[in-house]
Amino acid sequence: MTEKTAPSTGKVWLVGAGPGDPDLLTLKAARLIGSADAIVYDHLVGEGVRALFPAAARQVYVGKKAAKHTLKQEEINHLLVDLAREGLAVVRLKGGDPFIFGRGGEELEVLHAAGIPFEVVPGVTAAAGCAAYAGFPLTHREHAQSVTFVTGHLKDHTIDLDWPALARPGQTVVFYMGVGGAEEICRQMIAHGLPPHTPAAIVRRGTLPDQQTLLATLACLPARIAESGIKPPALIVVGTVVALHQTLSWFETP
Ligand code: SAH
Repeated sequence: MTEKTAPSTGKVWLVGAGPGDPDLLTLKAARLIGSADAIVYDHLVGEGVRALFPAAARQVYVGKKAAKHTLKQEEINHLLVDLAREGLAVVRLKGGDPFIFGRGGEELEVLHAAGIPFEVVPGVTAAAGCAAYAGFPLTHREHAQSVTFVTGHLKDHTIDLDWPALARPGQTVVFYMGVGGAEEICRQMIAHGLPPHTPAAIVRRGTLPDQQTLLATLACLPARIAESGIKPPALIVVGTVVALHQTLSWFETP
């Protein structure tokens, strides 16, 4: 009697690629990328990390730029299920950390419902990468006792956030996806009680060779962004810690 083996199911690793500098990949991420049969990645996965993709791996770009989705989220979910059902080792690679504004949870729920095994590998999130390479700590005993990560993504031209909580002093607030909403963000932070001269910065393409940091105040950040033409991906960081960029900046050439 011949033994029947069930068709082997593959597996999906949801992996954080970090903010850009490939040296910030975890050893586990690098190892999984190196042995993947298929890699499904989005637009925040930079060139340096893509250079590590094995030529033999199937590479699927599912990049998402705001309002210009290459593949709909539902199609990405199905793609992951289909690849795993082919028996492949699938790396689902996302910029930063997959569980911070990465829709990682949604993708795992679909895999779970389909009975596909998975693992999650954390990555250096943009806030940690940008703060480190721009030279300002996110917390500091004399400046900020807490740090909050929020989305600055506009829905119907308003950002539905808990402004009174975000505008409390003694903390650092990091806005992901906030470039388009910078004016509204600064306006609300001032309207809810932060002094207009509170330091505020924008960091574009953090940890990459062309990283750009603009240090301003809540009152003048929107104008600085407009005149410099800064485009995403960038983080807006509000709080007195960002002023330390002036003394602790080490990565950017002036
Ligand atoms: N999962 C990612 C965030 C995805 S949301 C993470 O943990 O970092 C996408 C937003 O992240 C961008 O709009 C931008 O605000 C921010 N971002 C990602 N990479 C960045 C980088 N290298 N420099 C500055 N901001 C970045």
